[in-house]
Amino acid sequence: MASLNDHYLKLAGAYLFPEIDRRVGAFLERHPEAATRLIRCGIGDVTEPLPRSVIAAMHAALDEMGERSTFRGYGPPLGYSFLREAIAAGDFADHGLDISPEEIFVSDGSKSDCGAILDILGDGNRFGVPDPVYPVYVDTNVMAGNTGPRRDDGRYEGLAYLPCTADNGFVPEVPDTPLDVIYLCFPNNPTGGMITRPQLRAWVDYALRHDAIILYDVAYQAYVRDADAPRSIYEIDGARRCAMEFHSFSKSGGFTGVRCGYTVCPRELQARTRDGEPRPLHGLWARRWSTKSNSVGYVVQRGAEALFGADGRREVATLVEHYLGNATLLREGCAKRGMDVFGGTNAPYVWVRCPDGRSSWETFDWMLEEAGVIITPGVGFGQCGEGYFRISAFNTRDNVEQVVDRLGALEQLTR
Ligand SMILES: *Cc1c(COP(=O)(O)O)cnc(C)c1O
Repeated sequence: MASLNDHYLKLAGAYLFPEIDRRVGAFLERHPEAATRLIRCGIGDVTEPLPRSVIAAMHAALDEMGERSTFRGYGPPLGYSFLREAIAAGDFADHGLDISPEEIFVSDGSKSDCGAILDILGDGNRFGVPDPVYPVYVDTNVMAGNTGPRRDDGRYEGLAYLPCTADNGFVPEVPDTPLDVIYLCFPNNPTGGMITRPQLRAWVDYALRHDAIILYDVAYQAYVRDADAPRSIYEIDGARRCAMEFHSFSKSGGFTGVRCGYTVCPRELQARTRDGEPRPLHGLWARRWSTKSNSVGYVVQRGAEALFGADGRREVATLVEHYLGNATLLREGCAKRGMDVFGGTNAPYVWVRCPDGRSSWETFDWMLEEAGVIITPGVGFGQCGEGYFRISAFNTRDNVEQVVDRLGALEQLTR
């Protein structure tokens, strides 16, 4: 009999979203009349349609595919140079950052990249993950065999969990112990928190001191509003020697269903061989992609390129303003009801302390039953998320205004 990858058996069954669905289903069985009233503020998916400029570019690209003279088959495995050049200019050179098109690797999205990166990292690395966390970082490490078994508290042996709490402003502190690979994500999902430049500087210094690598996830880069906040880790001197950056067009251009993102792997970035010899990762990453993938469709890459045009940028700005406007309303709505509110100013997520000492799931049930609003329990993102919930600003304005109204009504119910 063939053997399977036992590491998969360590994974907890998918828990958070199935459990949400189970509770919503049970509620609707008791209250079928509430079905049309429910508002979902749980899932991190965009709601607004694609920018017009993206649609136009994709239509034109599809027409090219229909003519013999302009038809394209396999593209370059690391992405078409028109897109890699547009990215290098629009996301880096225009901001005074030195990243060349050859250091950009186009992919079908950041989630894939998070898993793929483990292909080129060796055994025995000590991994640091924030808590609460985007679960993909943890589960991909479990699958790759980088952890021990799951403990009763839901954490995995062998991973270093970096607490993000109200006390540290939801930015993990640099640890005393050496780690080899650290995941950071700012603006953050789920807390909506943002890192300051000095805090990011401290992490880069730490990585340089310990020859560690930072995997820096900037899926929400377009939401950064604080002028002093770092948009990219490459704004910090030395980051080219210790960091990869993970980008996605999902939350900026509404590409969650189109699928396109990219990673940056600077040429200076090195890791050591089993014999302790430092070697650049760039060649391995290129080899990984050209062996295991044929990149993303031409039509999709033309769509992504359009995000960097004058119209595309304006349309992205409008989308982001819409979601940030929602976040502001949700922040204010929660704060007005006396809740402790975090995030939501540089991110499409508002992170709220559960009122009256309730747990995350108690608050979930309460919001569902009393307000017909579905939120995400913070504990679903890690132990340190207990006692919090996340409200996503990915919604229509209409829904958000209703949620705010219902939060207002909640106050009276609980008094
Ligand atoms: C949404 C999200 C991504 C982007 O994923 P895609 O696969 O590009 O859609 C990456 N990281 C975080 C933290 C996210 O929330």
